[in-house]
Amino acid sequence: MPGTIFTKILSGEIPCHKVYEDDAVLAFLDINPLSAGHTLVIPKEPAETIDRLSAESAAAVGGVLPAIARAVMKATGATAYNILQNNGSAAHQEVMHVHFHIIPKEPGGDGLGIGWKPRASGGDALVRLAQDIRSHLE
Ligand code: 5GP
Repeated sequence: MPGTIFTKILSGEIPCHKVYEDDAVLAFLDINPLSAGHTLVIPKEPAETIDRLSAESAAAVGGVLPAIARAVMKATGATAYNILQNNGSAAHQEVMHVHFHIIPKEPGGDGLGIGWKPRASGGDALVRLAQDIRSHLE
């Protein structure tokens, strides 16, 4: 995988405002935040999307997300937040290195805006789809 801006942050070539680091994970403030405290949590493993990430790195990130989210909430005073994880440019991913956004919701409403347009569904199509997904789990 070609390097990204996060590769340079991981190597120290580009500075960041670090909030957490261990052997497998780095967390730092987003340079263009949607709200105060907008934090990025990344695995050190250079996977482009989460389906390509090892279970070990996924577990390492997942293991520290709650503590980092708690710290961001305490520091900002926010009481609500979104965790966003984009995969693929069509899904709004700009930096092709897995990352989780922690985005506090500010009292005035700043934070992540969500255009959620649910569809109606049900019946046999859902039964078949769930079966199909199960059959592809490795
Ligand atoms: P994506 O759209 O890929 O999910 O989000 C990438 C995020 O990385 C964006 O929110 C963007 O502001 C952030 N970002 C891009 N370049 C840098 C950088 O050099 N430093 C930091 N701290 N964040 C960056």
